[in-house]
Amino acid sequence: MSVPDVVEICSRLLAIDTSNYGDDERSGERAAAEFITELLEPVGYRPAILESAPRRANVVLRVPGQDPSLPGFLVHGHTDVVPVEREQWSVDPFGGEVRDGYLWGRGATDMKDAVSMMLHCLLRWQRDGIRPRRDIVFAFVADEETSGRYGAQWLVREHPELFDGVGGAIGESGGFLVPVADPQGAVHRFYPIATAERGIMHLAVTARGTAGHGAQRDADNSVARLVTALARVAAHRWPMDPPATVREFFDIIGKTLGLTFDLSSHEGFDAALLQIGDLEDCVRSTAQVTSNPTVLRAGGKVNVIPSVAHAQIDVRTLPGAEQEALRVLEELLGDGVEWEFLENRPGQETTTDTEWYRAMKASIEEIDPGAVVIPRMLGGGTDAKSFAQLGIACYGFTPMTQDPDGRAGAGMHGVDERVPVAALRGGTDMMYRFLSAL
Ligand SMILES: [Zn+2]
Repeated sequence: MSVPDVVEICSRLLAIDTSNYGDDERSGERAAAEFITELLEPVGYRPAILESAPRRANVVLRVPGQDPSLPGFLVHGHTDVVPVEREQWSVDPFGGEVRDGYLWGRGATDMKDAVSMMLHCLLRWQRDGIRPRRDIVFAFVADEETSGRYGAQWLVREHPELFDGVGGAIGESGGFLVPVADPQGAVHRFYPIATAERGIMHLAVTARGTAGHGAQRDADNSVARLVTALARVAAHRWPMDPPATVREFFDIIGKTLGLTFDLSSHEGFDAALLQIGDLEDCVRSTAQVTSNPTVLRAGGKVNVIPSVAHAQIDVRTLPGAEQEALRVLEELLGDGVEWEFLENRPGQETTTDTEWYRAMKASIEEIDPGAVVIPRMLGGGTDAKSFAQLGIACYGFTPMTQDPDGRAGAGMHGVDERVPVAALRGGTDMMYRFLSAL
């Protein structure tokens, strides 16, 4: 039995349009789920397709380990992608084309690349007659790019038994190289692994007043009430409060680069960002709450004061401090402005002091003996939030090796998304070794 090249697997997956338009009926991961089962069934696996809604398909497969007394491990990846602005692309976003050392297409870096690495590992195990030490559950899920309502959230709520006995998990965001120079010019090779995510708190807010003529004085104006409240929310300077993951991140970087950081104030934090090169991207929006009004809706005619005005606010919270953030928000919104949750998903944070983290670190150091592995926190979020609710220690680890000619992945959620072919192949090997030894 021969195993298809990972580039071929990924190319075929990229050719399946799984654009996620939210609740829109155009969305659907069914074709990708069928592609996955058609790849795995002929070699003897029995993956299950689980649909949360028509065409919103998830695939779950448990590979039994040799030692049932060991805790199981979850490997999860999403098969949906964000929509494209096709006319902006220089290649067909669903062509799966290989050119100039890259594999191109929507999802090439987020995250059909990693899904292909996982599939390749499964195929290789069958070919080599390998059974992992512990149970490994693979979940290829729908709907990560909206909320996971049809994917991870749904699986965790409706089918938690699929994850029985699972202690740790890996998903997207982590395991790739970020080189940073110290003040003497020596370059250090950092590999962040995600150990934490901020929470998501999306609020719908409503201000009410009295409908009336736009020419009156002292109007009871819903629009004015709303925008005043939103201005307070937008201008609020949330305190700098780095979670343990962020402190550890800076601690290791400081020791490696020979620097000290002051994370107790906004000024200190901003100064630290300037000293850590490209690692800045990993940490910029992680050490505090953020609150951004994003949607505004009111009125319809310039000389009519509307009785009601609506807005939506995107709030990101720190793990364990969600209630405090909500208390402050209520105070900022003030009297006369109602709110409700559009979405409320707490953050998650695990530690570096686990067998899982140590195994990931070892697998990176095996490939790159000079590697400095660091924990990181995501300012946004992934499906890890959902799986963490089952008590699983969730990490972002989809390893990639360096392209020998310096190519780097590009275009995530943007235009001309592409992954270097060499990095994809190298990452596939890393994932295989990591999961086989786990
Ligand atoms: Zn993703």
